[in-house]
Amino acid sequence: MTKRSKLLLFDVDCTLVDTGGAGLTALSQACVETFGAEGPPFDLAGSTDGGVVRGIFAHFGKDYDAALEETFYQAYLPLMEANLRDESYGGRVLPGVPELLGACEEAGHTLGLLTGNIERGGLIKVSHYGLAEHFQFGAYGDDHWDRNKLGPFAIERANEHTGKNFTAEDVIVIGDTHKDINCAHAIGAPCLGVATGSQSLSQLIEAGADLAVEDLTMPSVRGFLEI
Ligand SMILES: [Mg+2]
Repeated sequence: MTKRSKLLLFDVDCTLVDTGGAGLTALSQACVETFGAEGPPFDLAGSTDGGVVRGIFAHFGKDYDAALEETFYQAYLPLMEANLRDESYGGRVLPGVPELLGACEEAGHTLGLLTGNIERGGLIKVSHYGLAEHFQFGAYGDDHWDRNKLGPFAIERANEHTGKNFTAEDVIVIGDTHKDINCAHAIGAPCLGVATGSQSLSQLIEAGADLAVEDLTMPSVRGFLEI
């Protein structure tokens, strides 16, 4: 019997790429453009953009409003794109990522994004860093503000896109925070935790990562992802 191919769902920030704060700064700049003042301190690690925007609205005493959310994104996205082009942020693709994505594809696995970025923001980031060709679909922060609800969107899109019949049993999530781990476990999928963000190896293990590694160059990654 041939081994069933996997659906590998990658987080973006601090898993595939580190924008060096380009995204975080754009959020503050967009607050200034939209509300005339910087927003609250942001806890971005593993958060969805929709969740962050709800926090910003609460900070400025606004009820949630979809039109205002879109106005905010219209300010945020070009600012983020400009910041990504600004080399002083020192943004980069994280170690081992291009090689790993290529190896996953060669092994016959299907790759997708599972990120708190809204779709437009996530695609700007993976395009900027030359990774867009690997990702034809994803689940994003505009599918739901609660990251734990994103897994089923990713599976549905994978099936639409590939014509295969992936279930949660076929999924492995790769991410850098406890929120990625919780999101994977919410659909019963394992999570590879990678300590290239704000959370340490021991924090990822404590949070229940099924494997935790310092970065994606570690040899144990390949066995875990069945490549
Ligand atoms: Mg992340």
